[in-house]
Amino acid sequence: MKILNFPTGRINSNCYVVEKEGKCLVIDVAYHCQKLIDHINSNNLQVVAILLTHGHFDHCGGVEELKRGCNLADVPVCVHKDDAELCQDAQHNWFRITCENCYPTHFVEEGTLQIGGFDIQVLHTPGHTPGSVVYLLDDVMFSGDTLFYMSVGRTDFPKGDFNQLKNSLQKIAKLQTNYKIYPGHSQCTTLQAELQHNPYLN
Ligand SMILES: [Zn+2]
Repeated sequence: MKILNFPTGRINSNCYVVEKEGKCLVIDVAYHCQKLIDHINSNNLQVVAILLTHGHFDHCGGVEELKRGCNLADVPVCVHKDDAELCQDAQHNWFRITCENCYPTHFVEEGTLQIGGFDIQVLHTPGHTPGSVVYLLDDVMFSGDTLFYMSVGRTDFPKGDFNQLKNSLQKIAKLQTNYKIYPGHSQCTTLQAELQHNPYLN
C-alpha cells in the first residue's frame, strides 16, 4: 500500500491517494486538484472510491472536478449521512473558498467497508462536523479534521460540538494500534505521539 499526499487549495487541505496493485482510493478532494488528476491519469490508476472524512468544502469541493478530470462518473463518493447536506450546498461554505457542490452516492457508517480490494474500518467521530469520520486501513488512520498533529479540529463552525469532539477523541484514544495518522491538514503523526503530547488527548 502506497500513500501519496496532494496538498490542495488555498488552505492546503491534504488529499490522499492510497494505491495498491493499480487501484486506488482518494481520501478528500479540495478544489483546484489538477496535480491529483494528473497523477491518477498518468499512472493509469483505477479509482475505486472517493472517501470523504467530512462535508466541509476544503475536503469535498473538488470531487466534481476530479470526476470530470479522470472520467469517474460511476465511482462511489462516500460520506457519512450526517454531512450529506453540507457537501451538497455550497451556501454552507463558511470558508469562502473556491469549490463546487459535491453529490455523495453512498453513505458510510461505523463499521467495516470493503471496496475494490481495500478493507476499511470506519469510526464515526462527530464534533468538528456531525458526520465526521475517521478511516482506518491496516495500521494507518485518515483522521480528517478530527485529530491533527498536536491539535484537533475547530468546533466553532455551524453544527460543530466540542463535547461530541471530546467523546470522539476518547474513542480514538482507546484504539490498541499505534496508527500512523494522516490528518486533513498539516503533518503526519502517530497515535502514540498524540496520546503523549496532544493536550486534547491526554
Ligand atoms: Zn473541516
